[in-house]
Amino acid sequence: MLTPPGHPLFSASRKVTGSPLDSVRDLILLHVKNPRSAPVERVSSSAQGIVFSGRQAREHLSKHIREHGMGYPLVLDPSAYEKEVATPDSPFALEPPSLYGEDQFAATLSLLEGTRATLSLTPTKYLYSSREGVMALRRAVEMVNAVETTNLILSVPIDTAWLTELCDELITLLNGADIPTALILGSKGNPVDSERQAASLRRIIQEIEDIALLRTDMTAIDAMVHGAVFSSIGDTSSTRRTYPPPSRSYAPSPSDRSPNVLVPGLLAYYRGSKLAYHLRADTALCSCWACVDWADMGGGKPGTPGRPISGFQDKEDQRDAHAHNLEVWSGTWRELRREENPFLMRRAWSRLCSEAIDHHERYNRAISLKRDVFIPRPALRFWANHAR
Ligand SMILES: [Zn+2]
Repeated sequence: MLTPPGHPLFSASRKVTGSPLDSVRDLILLHVKNPRSAPVERVSSSAQGIVFSGRQAREHLSKHIREHGMGYPLVLDPSAYEKEVATPDSPFALEPPSLYGEDQFAATLSLLEGTRATLSLTPTKYLYSSREGVMALRRAVEMVNAVETTNLILSVPIDTAWLTELCDELITLLNGADIPTALILGSKGNPVDSERQAASLRRIIQEIEDIALLRTDMTAIDAMVHGAVFSSIGDTSSTRRTYPPPSRSYAPSPSDRSPNVLVPGLLAYYRGSKLAYHLRADTALCSCWACVDWADMGGGKPGTPGRPISGFQDKEDQRDAHAHNLEVWSGTWRELRREENPFLMRRAWSRLCSEAIDHHERYNRAISLKRDVFIPRPALRFWANHAR
């Protein structure tokens, strides 16, 4: 049973009702930068949608609409935060001035709202955790509050240090916004890498109305279970967080071309090469819809009802790995939404996280040829131990 309309979790007072926000409420969308390598054909009209990000987000969105129509929500993320740092004088990346002397902010918003996207994010620049970052966010809130918008979301691309250093200020500022807000977390490493960060993020989600958490990993599910209005999970590691500008992201081991694989029982991503090296091929068979399709198409041994989780080893497996990842996280969220009420949903999520911690141990002791290779991330321990 899907969560019915009027469900207590989702019917609390909202700043925006009867708006396009309703079309994404309770959904986890696929966050993409390069749609060519993304499993867009697996995005479901009943449960998901797509966030287009990166330099070519607008072009990719238009092309997608031409080729696939609009059977589900499509969100435009101009991703100004990838390149530029916000200042109090310039929190947004604006269109160049026109000959007619138009207001550049109004012109930029009008261009965003003129696309056919269900919702558009503001072109907010990257917000470092500093006095200047706080002043820039305050200015951004003032600017969006001063204009009328219909399908705009205030993008809030914060450095992860905000979670622990400026949590109170962030909550106060975002509760002052008249339009919905969307957090995007930036870090050179994993943005939610400690129990303290996981706790702060959950508090932010719980204390701000109409907030989304975008461009993340399984952290999206903890956010949804605790009241985020919608969320998105990245198709690639670069769209499961953002890298602080002006430096550019780098591949830790450029020679390793294997894809990142979401291991269902562990609720965690591992490089395909690591799984192939440490796991025996005849164990840990995945039977998500993508892996069953792969088996049905003759990908493995005849009669095997799925695909070994250790079978995503090369660059050629990238598309299959991305399809598998999408099916695993969307299946997890689909199962959680079957719970009858928010309390049971939170308890079920906490139980899943506890089981994932146990599975890490099982992988280390029974499946892996070498011990203590699979270590639960601290956030998983927080999610497991704090159901409320
Ligand atoms: Zn699978």
